Amino acid sequence: MGEPKGVAESVPIAVHPDPHPDYGRRPVAWIHIVAPPSWGVTPSARSWCTCGYERHAIGRAAVLQLVAAHGEHHTACPLLNATSKGRTAA
Ligand SMILES: [Zn+2]
Repeated sequence: MGEPKGVAESVPIAVHPDPHPDYGRRPVAWIHIVAPPSWGVTPSARSWCTCGYERHAIGRAAVLQLVAAHGEHHTACPLLNATSKGRTAA
């Protein structure tokens, strides 16, 4: 039995998916698209909103749908469309 040398590989996980949009205004919905110029790399996108809406898309078609859905969310978002109170359609 040899002497096991303890080599602990510690890989720090640094994932900060949340950007810090610091515009003058206060944006409500964001969208982030990663589309590398290389055709071999699958593009991906993420759109999220402070109302809890969040979507991920992987693939060209899915990303395009996500962009469309993101635009539609501006009309469907309860935060962006605080129209009238107590209007709940089944
Ligand atoms: Zn929303």
